Amino acid sequence: MVCSSSRGPDVKDDERSTTAPYYIETAGEVALFEQCHHRKLAVMLKGPTGCGKTRFVEYMAWRLKRTLVTISCHDDLSTADLVGRFLIGTDGTAWHDGPLTRAVREGAICYLDEVVEARQDTVVVLHPLSDHRRMLPIDKTGETVIAAPGFQLVVSYNPGYQRMLKDMKPSTRQRFVAFDFDFPPPEREAAIVAHEGGVDASVAHALVTLGNRLRQLRDRGLAEVPSTRLLIAAARLIGSGIAVQDACYAAIVSPLSDEPVLIGAMRDLVAASF
Ligand code: ADP
Repeated sequence: MVCSSSRGPDVKDDERSTTAPYYIETAGEVALFEQCHHRKLAVMLKGPTGCGKTRFVEYMAWRLKRTLVTISCHDDLSTADLVGRFLIGTDGTAWHDGPLTRAVREGAICYLDEVVEARQDTVVVLHPLSDHRRMLPIDKTGETVIAAPGFQLVVSYNPGYQRMLKDMKPSTRQRFVAFDFDFPPPEREAAIVAHEGGVDASVAHALVTLGNRLRQLRDRGLAEVPSTRLLIAAARLIGSGIAVQDACYAAIVSPLSDEPVLIGAMRDLVAASF
């Protein structure tokens, strides 16, 4: 594919999965999402990185028997990356649908991950898709694509991240039903860490207790706190035979900060937890 932007879209087209993605529900979000889907409402998932937003969408796409098209947003993403472009081939110039247009035609769930990373002039293309019109006008071809039944727009973003620099325009935000995500309560997070990390319940429980202690360091300047994803990474290392302290340092402490004082405080909490 020829892309006009330097990076182009980072897209994952999932076949409909036959086995259910592992997902533990936290607060009634499954029924709420199902209603949004049936009532053709666009959805915004808000929450810190690594807390289960992507896994939730994967699970819901499986449950609703829809194909999932995932687009990771970045600041180079252009409207053409989403909608499509004319490309020169052996038979001349032909139009190629972008991932958003494909999802609209096929009635897929289109998930734009970290949507605030995309420029606001790119995000505007979502507006007529996210209200009752459910249509995608393609300026370059003059075609207006009406969304097939089953099409649903889902976006995610991390409200804490670069909060002062980037935010969604109110006119965009108001088009979505918002779901607030956060790290699961301790027993559920321990069950997730045990399942995904392949460790027994006592190790998973200790990792989650450590994670919650580390999360309190936010007040002492830790910008990004450990996600469920990081706890799972530590669990996987422990499960494969790496010493607990080393695993926690490599998978949790070091990725979170370069600041010696914070690293020291995190190391102390690791030592006190195992
Ligand atoms: P996000 O999209 O919020 O950045 P992910 O969905 O990628 O985060 O979550 C990171 C990992 O944490 C997942 O791959 C999954 O292993 C695990 N996870 C988080 N929450 C849940 C949950 N409620 N049920 C099952 N797994 C979860």
